[in-house]
Amino acid sequence: MDSTQVKLELFNDNYFDLFEKEKNEVMTSLEGRVLKSVLQKNNLPENFRSLVQAHLKKNSAHPCDEVRQDLAGTPAAEKDLRALYARLNREYFDGGMAVRIEWGKNVKTANRRSLRFGSYDSRKKLIRIHPRLKQDFVPLTVLELTIYHEMCHDYLPPVKRNGQWQTHHRDFKRKEREFRHYREAMHWEKAHWAKLLAPSPPES
Ligand SMILES: [Zn+2]
Repeated sequence: MDSTQVKLELFNDNYFDLFEKEKNEVMTSLEGRVLKSVLQKNNLPENFRSLVQAHLKKNSAHPCDEVRQDLAGTPAAEKDLRALYARLNREYFDGGMAVRIEWGKNVKTANRRSLRFGSYDSRKKLIRIHPRLKQDFVPLTVLELTIYHEMCHDYLPPVKRNGQWQTHHRDFKRKEREFRHYREAMHWEKAHWAKLLAPSPPES
């Protein structure tokens, strides 16, 4: 069956000018939409159906199409929170930030999607980073983005809009995206969150 492939063609090439993204990204997204609606049909030949399903599965293996290179892990010994914080402070905040930072406790929480890897206590001016990010398979950039995210909370406090406090508001998100490897780090998190949430290894 290897010779059989699912391929979509678009007749009007100008279509791609409507989008800011690269042509291949638009195509993948479009393909997904078309093929999913094809699968809704009841009278599809079974071999065609399984071919389409396999193709969709293959494409969804990459949660974020624009990033093709996966980041490598960084040994725990190289993960010095204070040094990383100091560097980020210089690079993104003109050295003007004055908060403390420490590893959090390795609490055995139930495995769930919502586990937070960093927190910021504005009263104590203290950032805590979850020790799971110390693990060797976690890239330094991912740890850095987590620290940077919490630093942004100090730099851009919550704002009240329509009677609601917003922490990740527009200005916050804009500042967060200034992080040089934002997309790579987000991509890694999306691809590896299940491993990050897996039962944590014994304390070293
Ligand atoms: Zn946050």
